[in-house]
This record gives sequence, C-alpha cells and structure tokens, in this order.
Amino acid sequence: MAAKFEPVLTRNVGKPEALTLKGYRQLGGYEGLAKALTMEPDAVIDEVKKSGLRGRGGAGFPAGMKWSFIPKGKDKPKYLVCNADESEPGTFKDRLLMENDPHQLIEGCAICCFAVSAATCYIYIRGEYTKSAVILERALKEAYDAGILGDNVLGSGFKLNMYVHRGAGAYICGEETGMLESLEGKRGQPRVKPPFPAVVGAFGAPTVINNVETLCNVPHIITRGADWFKSIGTDEKNTGPKLYAISGHVDRPGTYEHPIGITFREMLDAAGGMWHGRQLKAFIPGGASAPILKPDQIDLKMDFDTVAKAGSMLGSAAVIVMDETTCMVRSVARLSKFFNHESCGQCTPCREGTNWMELVLDRLEHGEGTERDSQLLLSICKNIGGQSLCALGDAAIGPVKSLVDRFPEEIEQHVRNRACPFPRPRYFENGA
Ligand code: SF4
Repeated sequence: MAAKFEPVLTRNVGKPEALTLKGYRQLGGYEGLAKALTMEPDAVIDEVKKSGLRGRGGAGFPAGMKWSFIPKGKDKPKYLVCNADESEPGTFKDRLLMENDPHQLIEGCAICCFAVSAATCYIYIRGEYTKSAVILERALKEAYDAGILGDNVLGSGFKLNMYVHRGAGAYICGEETGMLESLEGKRGQPRVKPPFPAVVGAFGAPTVINNVETLCNVPHIITRGADWFKSIGTDEKNTGPKLYAISGHVDRPGTYEHPIGITFREMLDAAGGMWHGRQLKAFIPGGASAPILKPDQIDLKMDFDTVAKAGSMLGSAAVIVMDETTCMVRSVARLSKFFNHESCGQCTPCREGTNWMELVLDRLEHGEGTERDSQLLLSICKNIGGQSLCALGDAAIGPVKSLVDRFPEEIEQHVRNRACPFPRPRYFENGA
C-alpha cells in the first residue's frame, strides 16, 4: 500500500525552489486558491465537507463542518487561527510542512478564509519554532508583494491579511481557547466552553481554528476534488493522506506521509523497523496523551476510528515506539511529569491530580511504591477524567490508565524488587 502512494503534502520536501513563490507556482502552487476564488464560498465549504477531511491536530473533527458553523452575518469580523503550536511530545510533522513548503500552508489558510469570509488570519506558532516562523514570514512578504494577500487577493476583490504570531513555549496554548487567550495578549488559560470559538472566538468574534496539516490538505482538495481525496484512506470517515511522526526505538525516526489507515506494522517497516533489530514492547499511536498499545496491535490500521476502537487515539499521529529494554513505569512517570509541568493550574482536579500522578509514579520507579499504588493511580485518574475544564486533564490520564491496565506486571515488579528492574539510561545518572 505504501509503495504505490504518491506523497501529496510532502511532495515539495527536499525541493528548495518550493521556498520561493516563483518556485512554488512552477510546482502548481496557488492553483487551488485561484480556483476557489471562482467558486461560491459555500461551494468551497461543501467540497471540503464532501472530502471527509478531519482535523489533523488531535481531535479529528470534520474540517468542513467546523467551517460551516461560522455564522453568515456581517455584523462581526471573522477570523482564522492556524494552530501551529506543535508541542505534543513526539510530534514534529507540522514543522516539516512549514520549513519546506510555507506557501502550501498560506494557500490553505487563504482558501479557508475565503470560504468563511474571514479577512484576517493568524498563524499561531510555538515560540521554539524560530526557523519555521522566519520562513513563513518571508513567504508572507512574497505573497503580499505578488498580490496573493492584501486588499485584492489575486484580483478577486477579496481582502485578506495574514500574520505570524509567535507563542512563548506553553503546551497549553495548543488548546484552542488557551491559544485565543494568548493571541489576545492574556495568560494562555483555556476558556469554559460553550461558547465555542465558531461563535465567540478571537476578540469575541467567530473564529475557525485549524491545524497546519489540516489546512495544507485544502489546496489539494480544491484542485483535485473531494472524490480524489476520498479515494485515499480506510473508509469514508478516514480519508486522505496523513503525516505520521515516528520516534523512539526505530531505525529511521522521522516524519512519513502515508495514506491514512496504513497499519502500524507497515509504518514501522517504512521507518526501517525496530532499532538494532530489538523486540517491540509497546507503542503510543498518537502523542503523549494517547493510551499505550502492545505488540498484539501491530496490524492496527492507523486511522481515527480504528485506533479509537482499540482503546487509544490517533491524536496528532505522533508514534512513539518502545523496545524490550524500556521501563514502562519510568516512561509514564516522565509523561506525567510533563503534564504536571504544563497544567495551567486553573482547575483543581488537573492541577492537583497531575502532581499526585507524578509523585506516585516517581516513587514506584525509585522502588518506594506499595501494592496499593495501582489502585491509587486509578483513583486519581477517576477524579481527573471528565472533571477538568479542558482536554489536558483527560490527556494526562491516558498513559497512566494504560500502564495500570496493560502493564500491571511491571508495576508489581517494581514493588516486589523495591527497585526498577530495567537498565537506567545514562541521562538519568544526574538524579533526574
Ligand atoms: Fe488548565 Fe488542566 Fe484545567 Fe486544562 S484541565 S484548564 S490545563 S488546569
């Protein structure tokens, strides 16, 4: 399946000419925008709806449906905020798109803005992505100079301004309403929903929020049609090309483009197989928030619905592979430390619960755990799940619950031995 697939989103990766407007146009760029501008905005939304494109940032919500929620009236401005705050551990796919093909993203953003009648777009990019931000800013300037952005987009009369807005390194600003708060110059803490951003978004106005990869698909859907897009993938709810960022114990970690629904085994083979030929012990299919899966799921189709049915989630499609030398307690303790650090502290179950999870897992890893710790961890998870204001709370419990449910023997070993039974990596030697 993977061998016959022609890359779509990454087709210009490794072609330096794609970094310039002239080169991008020679490669067929901005044809999608030119075509969209000849269509009715609702027809553009319908085409994206028909394609079945689902958000590539984590939630997998249908993009066209999200666009259709934007009210039609002219009483308020409308905004597009492109979520380029790629911060989920293990996720580095959007960076590839921004660093290698910035105009593809600008074109996708412009088509979305035209479809929902937004005259302003912000690309909210994580603070650490300096290179991506510089490349995008350079591309934006070229687009303005060529009349692709500004008061008269490609001579159509449509007005569009686009800005790169740099974040300051907080994971929670990848949550859509935390991002809006940050964009407005406030502390990046998630808002209570409803109202949803489609009604009350940036600066109190209707706002579409889409991920980088999601928007990069849009020019291709408009140019090649929804039927072409739907011809790729597992079924009508899981369509199109997909970027997978694979890391951990694989021979060639990196970002790979495959049809959505490739199996984990095929993906692993494409990345050169297990590092040093070791045995697969576990894998995370969709970033740090996703429950951990075991080798008996190696033939799992990596699409939204199949991964969900298997008890995990595709999320951002950041695939983290772990071999037989990996300590699952230590790995999950590390993830819990991350979520505890990144909790914005606004609501009690998440603020306190993530801290407790880190403490309990840390003591287990250091041989100071008790037989009751598994139940204690589940109890903490129960008090966070569904009780928190944003998705971070639920995200934080995914790996912990899967550790207790799927790797109980490892917890027992830590308690029985009063020590971690696995080799300790060198970077832990300084007391980390
Ligand atoms: Fe903040 Fe956590 Fe509450 Fe989200 S769930 S608002 S990150 S404290």
